[in-house]
Amino acid sequence: MSFENLGLIAPILRALETQGYTTPTPIQSQAIPVVLGQKDLLACSQTGTGKTAAFAIPILQLLYKQKQTEQTPSRHIKTLILTPTRELAIQIAENFSEYGAHTGLKHLVIFGGVSAGPQVQALRNGPDILIATPGRLLDLWQQGHINLRYIHQFVLDEADRMLDMGFIHDVKRVITKLPEKRQTLFFSATMPDEIAHLANSILTNPVRVSV
Ligand code: AMP
Repeated sequence: MSFENLGLIAPILRALETQGYTTPTPIQSQAIPVVLGQKDLLACSQTGTGKTAAFAIPILQLLYKQKQTEQTPSRHIKTLILTPTRELAIQIAENFSEYGAHTGLKHLVIFGGVSAGPQVQALRNGPDILIATPGRLLDLWQQGHINLRYIHQFVLDEADRMLDMGFIHDVKRVITKLPEKRQTLFFSATMPDEIAHLANSILTNPVRVSV
């Protein structure tokens, strides 16, 4: 299996080549076609398996293709990625910078513990993709700086850690702000009952992948 076989477009293949990636990891070869097919995904996988690229690469492709069909580029956030920690948020953003280098798509990362001013300012640039920790997302949403009504893809990253860190209530609140008609990608290393129940309640006919 190669990245070409997965049906990826030239701007992304070029970026992967620059990264020195030659072969998709198992989670990537299983998840990329599901995401490109716009289906929901339930993935049981640990950090280190290449799971970030497994959602970042196909999301970039979907958004790139969508942008090409638009007469006037929309300035709404189209993809939301929720992740529990600032470190993970920064890592995910780095992945989007790398794989999306030739797509012209914009992403923004927001997290708590730092001043909100620059994040609010950056939101005005109209990012396509928002990578966020739940608390800061809710704060800025409440203050009217974030519109979640145009989200097409929602990624919940490290759902079990959200539970462990006490963020599950915030995550559920964020989900109530999202359009019902959307694609949801759910990632968790483990599936305790509460997480399986959450997955069940927010996914529609998900394809299950376990690596
Ligand atoms: P993750 O599981 O997303 O934290 O990724 C783990 C590490 O694997 C990251 O440093 C990625 O840059 C790297 N990586 C992801 N996919 C591939 C691939 N197909 N080939 C080589 N390295 C990869």
